[in-house]
Amino acid sequence: MSPRRIGILGGTFDPPHIGHLVMAVQVRDALALDVVLLVVANEPWQKVGERTISPARDRLALVEAAVEHLEGLEACDLELRRGGSSYTADTLAELAAGGHPDDQRFLILGADAAAGLPTWERGDEVADRCEIVVAAREGEVGPAPPGWSWRTVTTTRLDVSSTELRERVADGRTIEVLVPAGVRREIDALGLYRSPR
Ligand code: ATP
Ligand code: MG
Repeated sequence: MSPRRIGILGGTFDPPHIGHLVMAVQVRDALALDVVLLVVANEPWQKVGERTISPARDRLALVEAAVEHLEGLEACDLELRRGGSSYTADTLAELAAGGHPDDQRFLILGADAAAGLPTWERGDEVADRCEIVVAAREGEVGPAPPGWSWRTVTTTRLDVSSTELRERVADGRTIEVLVPAGVRREIDALGLYRSPR
């Protein structure tokens, strides 16, 4: 196995949408990554209690459908297999332990997620184990907070969120184009988001 440049895009993905996918493919190309792993959070501890989160295996099925025809994008179930709360520090350690010693890891974040970095569990470990890449529109993200550093990649920011998609399904509005057709089929098959939040 030769060393790889690995992008890591973590999320709740409830559901995954074109905003996530555009960011992943544009960062993949800008940084010549071999692969971008869409890492499904088992228990997104920062969101628990705020709302009901769909079962992790359902969200994984959606992400698998989302990446189906996209080169170099892969669904990653590492946090599901580990169980419990999902901490990026643990995920990066596991990827390092299972990979090539010269692998390079790039943690891909949207501007909102980047702003939350100082609140992350064991942030120092995260910073040591990867390079942080913030995908943002020009001017959308400022300098890194004290103690952090990141590189910015300019991406086409699409103003869509999982929250909006859940609301659309609950209201019977279309989510066509906002998620790949396979994701839409999977949402229907699993009966997700139909009841009001
Ligand atoms: P929710 O509405 O439930 O908060 P979300 O759409 O923000 O969901 P997450 O799973 O929370 O999706 O986000 C995972 C990652 O994707 C984060 O790094 C976030 O910044 C980024 N992201 C979310 N939406 C977009 C978007 N439209 N364009 C680019 N990046 C996005
Ligand atoms: Mg969000």
